[in-house]
Amino acid sequence: MDTVENVVIVGAGAAGLTAAIYTARANLVPLVIEGMQPGGQLTTTSDVENYPGFPDGVDGTMLMADMRAQAERFGTKYQFGEVVEADVREAPFSLTLTDGEVIKTKTLIIATGATAKYLGLPSEEAYLGKGVSACATCDGAFYRDMPVVVVGGGDTACEEAIFLTRFASKVTMVHRRDEFRASKIMAERAMNHEKIEIAWNSVVEEVLGDDSGVTGVRIRNTQREEVFEVECKGYFSAIGHKPNTEVFANTLETDEVGYLVADGVKTSIPGVYAAGDVADRIYRQAVTAAGTGCAAALEAERYLENQEHAD
Ligand code: NAP
Repeated sequence: MDTVENVVIVGAGAAGLTAAIYTARANLVPLVIEGMQPGGQLTTTSDVENYPGFPDGVDGTMLMADMRAQAERFGTKYQFGEVVEADVREAPFSLTLTDGEVIKTKTLIIATGATAKYLGLPSEEAYLGKGVSACATCDGAFYRDMPVVVVGGGDTACEEAIFLTRFASKVTMVHRRDEFRASKIMAERAMNHEKIEIAWNSVVEEVLGDDSGVTGVRIRNTQREEVFEVECKGYFSAIGHKPNTEVFANTLETDEVGYLVADGVKTSIPGVYAAGDVADRIYRQAVTAAGTGCAAALEAERYLENQEHAD
């Protein structure tokens, strides 16, 4: 007979690994499917200074390695692979991995996260974690009294630019059009801030840097066809996030951007839970992801217990 897992957790970021710690300690022997970016978004930043319990900060990759080891200690199983197909209409749920293997499970915790969007410049990739970031809350404090650049014109870009003014000597926003997409109040706050300068109708052509990391950006004004450079030590991409929900979007409800719609952590299908950024377009923090990972684990435990009593 086919093996049916108790709990399968898709995603090994803060949400997935916290769910693993809780379900493993409940003796459910969870299986975590680790995709292309084990450890999640935290592995793309260097120091994490806002995760509670680390007064001196903690390296993002180390934090995730520790979470992984903590979950392993209680019996979590790990499998590398990407889910290419999911049938979550009814339990047992089935997931097909890249190599064709099919995994069946009584409960499923989707913790596949969201991926910050970048412009796609090779120079962004080259300086990722060395000045290039997509999270001002995570990395803003590293740029005390230094100039920074924020790309984008939505609420996130305005919010991040305003947040960065607490630290940075100057914030240059680069937006491809001549008006912000952001809500009026956020746009006005950004436009009226004395530390924020806005390059309208402008696109970043290249992130400039040297061995020390980012040193500036080369920008092109698309109206005047003029190219200029802006000095900066931090470069923040704020052009939106893409939730990793493609394989589930056929069955589970998603919002217009693609985030899973959940009531707390419960999706519309009993036994299927959403944890972390995959269902969170607002907070998107490691600690909130860990919190919903814990909640999803507790819900999965409760569901399995009820199923057992029903059988
Ligand atoms: P968004 O609203 O989709 O805005 C993305 C911005 O990036 C737009 O200004 C867009 O330019 C620009 N952009 C996208 N692709 C680009 C590219 N390839 N090159 C250059 N620029 C590019 O995303 P968001 O700001 O992350 O917000 C997502 C959702 O969360 C929104 O509904 C927002 O209201 C909400 N949110 C709310 C708050 C809050 O209320 N405090 C905070 C953050 C986010 P165009 O304008 O030209 O398209």
